[in-house]
Amino acid sequence: MVAAVDARSADGTATGRDWRPIVQALEKLLDANRVMRRKEELLVYECDGLSSYRQRPAVVTLPKTTEEVAAVVRFCHEQEIPFVTRGAGTGLSGGALPIEECVLIVTTCMQQILDIDYDNQRVVVQPGVINNWITQAVSGAGFYYAPDPSSQLACSIGGNVAENSGGVHCLKYGVTTNHVLGLKLVLPNGDVVDIGGAVAEMPGFDLTGVVVGSEGTLGIVTEVTLRILKSAESVQVLLADFTSVEAAGGAVSDIIQAGIIPAGMEMMDNFSLNAVEDTVATNCYP
Ligand SMILES: Cc1cc2nc3c(=O)[nH]c(=O)nc-3n(C[C@H](O)[C@H](O)[C@H](O)COP(=O)(O)OP(=O)(O)OC[C@H]3O[C@@H](n4cnc5c(N)ncnc54)[C@H](O)[C@@H]3O)c2cc1C
Repeated sequence: MVAAVDARSADGTATGRDWRPIVQALEKLLDANRVMRRKEELLVYECDGLSSYRQRPAVVTLPKTTEEVAAVVRFCHEQEIPFVTRGAGTGLSGGALPIEECVLIVTTCMQQILDIDYDNQRVVVQPGVINNWITQAVSGAGFYYAPDPSSQLACSIGGNVAENSGGVHCLKYGVTTNHVLGLKLVLPNGDVVDIGGAVAEMPGFDLTGVVVGSEGTLGIVTEVTLRILKSAESVQVLLADFTSVEAAGGAVSDIIQAGIIPAGMEMMDNFSLNAVEDTVATNCYP
């Protein structure tokens, strides 16, 4: 692996930094196969969902534990090497976009659900766990995880925490910040801190609220304690047909004004409905 490394950046341009000893040091901190430096290995990491911006990282690391994340971050801090965190890379704001000559720390090897506590309605997960896996893991016992970004089949909990993600059900149940109880965080110097806890209202400052939505700028989340909810006993779906977007919008206001908070409301205009029909031909819309 080290033999493939030279003092050039991934796209072949000369750089001021000699990456060979850096890669060797990182390979001592992680397994060699979890440190990537070859151009073809780095290609996939050059952008997130905002693909009009691209920058290949110098090195990609794939830690598995808090200790490994802390070791990589501490090393980068000591060597003054910039680093960027990446979850599943579905973000639309360029948060996981590498900066030039950086180490990218990717959480896709941190995918364990560490604890499920039904009595206290909470789970503890590693940041690379995919959003939808939590509901899959607890639905058999009658629970679910409420924040449901439409990317929930692919996006990671670490990314959800960093972006304070939400989805259709957030109208009634709130966004990610309303469901994060506690976090383990690796600070930019490699120190590890626990903030929040196992219950919603902890004494002291709401540091969890500060970190959720901070787009990865305050540290790397390595463990998340999340609230899970009891699944509804029954679910009713209502489809209504309107002749204009304005009329549909007015109905949304009327429903909320009447004090009714549905689990979710979604609106599709005629153009979108026709596009769906042209593709999947459900023949179920009026
Ligand atoms: C088709 C599609 C639909 C989408 N729908 C929605 C939607 O309905 N609602 C919504 O809110 N978003 C939506 N998104 C945006 C995106 O999926 C969310 O922002 C998601 O939370 C990003 O998760 P990720 O794992 O892909 O994070 P990434 O894209 O990998 O990273 C996003 C940010 O999080 C940081 N980060 C990642 N992991 C950590 C960590 N462990 N610790 C600290 N920082 C970290 C990164 O540095 C970056 O700043 C959608 C995206 C797509 C492509």
